[in-house]
Amino acid sequence: MSVTYPEYYEKFTCTASSCEDSCCIGWEINIDSETEEAYRQVSGPFGAELCRSIVTEEGQSHFRLAEQRCPFLNEQNLCKIILTLGENSLCEICREHPRFHNQYGTIKESGLGLCCEEAARLLFSSSRPLKFVTKLDDAVSFSGNLDSDWIDTLYAARKIAFSLMQNRNYSIRDRLALLLAYGEDLQDLIDLGVSLTVLEQTVQEYSDSTYLESLLLQLKEPSEEKTDLSHWWEHAFRLFRSLESIDATWRCSLDTLSTNVDEARTAGRDFETFYSSRSYEYEHFCVYLLFRYWMEGLYDGDLLSRVKFVVISFLFLNLWDCQHWLCHQTFTLKDRIFIAKNYSKEVEYSLQNMEILLNTLREDKDFSVSDLFSALLDEKCGKS
Ligand code: SF4
Repeated sequence: MSVTYPEYYEKFTCTASSCEDSCCIGWEINIDSETEEAYRQVSGPFGAELCRSIVTEEGQSHFRLAEQRCPFLNEQNLCKIILTLGENSLCEICREHPRFHNQYGTIKESGLGLCCEEAARLLFSSSRPLKFVTKLDDAVSFSGNLDSDWIDTLYAARKIAFSLMQNRNYSIRDRLALLLAYGEDLQDLIDLGVSLTVLEQTVQEYSDSTYLESLLLQLKEPSEEKTDLSHWWEHAFRLFRSLESIDATWRCSLDTLSTNVDEARTAGRDFETFYSSRSYEYEHFCVYLLFRYWMEGLYDGDLLSRVKFVVISFLFLNLWDCQHWLCHQTFTLKDRIFIAKNYSKEVEYSLQNMEILLNTLREDKDFSVSDLFSALLDEKCGKS
């Protein structure tokens, strides 16, 4: 039994009252039944306040928000439950957030979700390639009934996906083009129902630098069918607009972005020059998404939609970055954190949104692999 996590994971501490986008504002937090029971046992005025604030809808309890704020968030943005009852009294979601945990057989994986600005700061603070730590952990018990060979193969395949994303001999856009080709090749084999041995051969091909060089040349050959990228972006924005949103400012950002797509794309080359020493931030962002979502393919055999999700997330972030840079002529680490955090909060932190996105990326012809190649290798945008 083991647990794997990014090397910065253990450094996380909530910044509490210094946080500029507290997760105690705007989110309705479900309270687990064990914690609810404990809250209902608290005596005195605070116990009465706890009971008054809990509402139960369709069998699920949560705190009633007061003007979008958790009723236990005080004027200094500190948690009154922690101040009164101690940190151990928090419900599971509050105790864990922004940590996430996934488990595949005997392997547990933990990470820090990017919807938290402190988690984003930790991710983007180092230029070194992101590393993961694996430790034996007896507390992890076996979970699920997945085939262990299938788990091992997908792990090995993800290792190569990481190495493609962290290959700094190539630009970010080239790395993503290779990742997309890799996802497509693996998906074709999975759909054909080939043996794991055949799948592993393809995985190995993508660790060969000569193979990658020639593949990239092929991918860059001009294609006869040209994707109309202005039209493609309109379609992409329709998709993002169809998602549920948490914060009203997200809709405004989408509107501003979507009306200035061509200007932002045209600024891409200059932004790329400006940002070249920090392109590792895109690398970290993509590795974070691969770490979090790749292995979910174990359940439905769909790797390609998850790779497409990484690609479209990069494209969206990069477009937003270009537009921000165009307006402000600067792009700080704070800007990086703000944009990545907002994207994660609005897109990733809704199961419904993720389901819509993955289904659309799987089925909608406008998000075909060749369209995504065109968007990645967009001449206007440069090489990132
Ligand atoms: S978003 Fe992160 S840093 Fe901010 S209050 Fe929540 S856990 Fe703390």
